[in-house]
Amino acid sequence: MARGSARIANLLRSLGLPEGARVAAYVEKSPEALMLYLATLRAGYVYLPLNTAYREAEIDYFLGDAEPAVVVCGDANLAWVEQAARRAGTGHVYTLNDDIGGSLLDAAAPFADEAPIVPRAEDDLAAILYTSGTTGRSKGAMLSHGNLAANVKVLHAYWGWRGDDVLLHMLPIFHVHGLFVAAQGALLAGARMIWLPRLDVAAALRLLPRCTVMMGVPTYYVRLLAEPGFGRAACRNMRLFVSGSAPLLMETFNAFRERTGHTILERYGMSETNMLVSNPYDPAQGERLGGTVGMPLPGVSVRVVDDAGRPCAPGEIGNIEVRGPNVFQGYWRMPEKTRQEFSADGWFKTGDVGRWGGQAGGREVPDGYLSIVGRSKDLIISGGFNVYPKEIEGFIDEMPGVAESAVVGVPHPDLGEAVVAVVVPRPGAGLDEAAMIARLKGMIANFKVPKRIHVAGELPRNTMGKVQKNVLRQQYASF
Ligand code: ATP
Ligand code: MG
Repeated sequence: MARGSARIANLLRSLGLPEGARVAAYVEKSPEALMLYLATLRAGYVYLPLNTAYREAEIDYFLGDAEPAVVVCGDANLAWVEQAARRAGTGHVYTLNDDIGGSLLDAAAPFADEAPIVPRAEDDLAAILYTSGTTGRSKGAMLSHGNLAANVKVLHAYWGWRGDDVLLHMLPIFHVHGLFVAAQGALLAGARMIWLPRLDVAAALRLLPRCTVMMGVPTYYVRLLAEPGFGRAACRNMRLFVSGSAPLLMETFNAFRERTGHTILERYGMSETNMLVSNPYDPAQGERLGGTVGMPLPGVSVRVVDDAGRPCAPGEIGNIEVRGPNVFQGYWRMPEKTRQEFSADGWFKTGDVGRWGGQAGGREVPDGYLSIVGRSKDLIISGGFNVYPKEIEGFIDEMPGVAESAVVGVPHPDLGEAVVAVVVPRPGAGLDEAAMIARLKGMIANFKVPKRIHVAGELPRNTMGKVQKNVLRQQYASF
């Protein structure tokens, strides 16, 4: 990794790029793709990974927005990416395929396999990470070297990374979870990684016995549990399972513990901040509580405030705001948006809604634990009352025959917004809309009860396993 990234770093230096130049990577996951990331930092430039699911219109937007000096893509996409790069004023386009083919490694081959690390200050930009676009158009989060270093060092200590760890890495590396939390964590520990291009349950079952750490989005854990052969034997050498990027259902948390004897550690973070809050690793620091994301990481400050900025009491739902050395430098070329997302006293508004303590996972939890209730953009205001989708989803998920659910607000002539639920049945189960609505009426206030419950085969999710509520809002807009 050191030699390969040195060659690429030397190639990048030879191009004579200006300070702060962006190197965009639109490549399939491979060890060489990780070298490209390391090379960019070694050469002192700014790394800009792009989701490989993006197609022409999206790449055109991101390249036009970021104006990278270098673009690396797969040969399969070269023809159209080259055109988009030209439109964005990019001077250098290379290719890198997941089989070690492509012009990047060819061009890097003649260079020395040693390279100095170009010194950079804490505040200098290291990467621009586009957010997942769950609530709207993706924004480029500008992360400095200081931001990245602060977080990876904290996680190294907090999660007890060891040199003899083996990480099963199945996450994409264009996102904070797979790149900065998983891969960078293993690199700092000097640990080994086993790389799969994506979630592959059969391969995971075969490889897990050689591993000590796995990180995944909740879907990974659901899929592992769906495999009858998955259990204690596969996990015999494991010390840590981490989940994040989307809420882990209590049911998954419990089923996983029952089947494997391991308690999944759920944590909370975002592109703009890396990791913020984590359930404890060390039992001496507390229990891992399902339905919560745990406690603020060392050095990270977290507050829950009402719309006027006043701190909420434990149990009260409010806006989650954060501060710390991990918090980003702002949104790329969006100074106005950046200003809006910071409070007057310098806290970053995450856009997530949550509470300290109170009810989580069907029981009372201690005040030091944070639970995410949803996103402020998903809050439903029906007839003037606030409805938090996650609360309703919790009740629906408990009903017999329900696998999972999503609650959204859709336009309604009288109420402003009406509560609507989309429910995925368990295999073979039949669901009766009227009976479910009647049952909910006996459990929660009328204004929270969905006006309609739609049955669907599955919920729309993006690559990071996040339910796309904007898609549901459109799909079920008329009822
Ligand atoms: P966009 O900002 O473009 O709408 P996004 O917020 O989904 O997309 P990311 O930065 O990838 O983009 O994701 C961060 C968000 O993921 C957090 O703000 C939070 O809503 C959600 N998230 C992360 N971890 C958890 C978790 N453990 N439980 C619930 N939600 C989580
Ligand atoms: Mg976001």
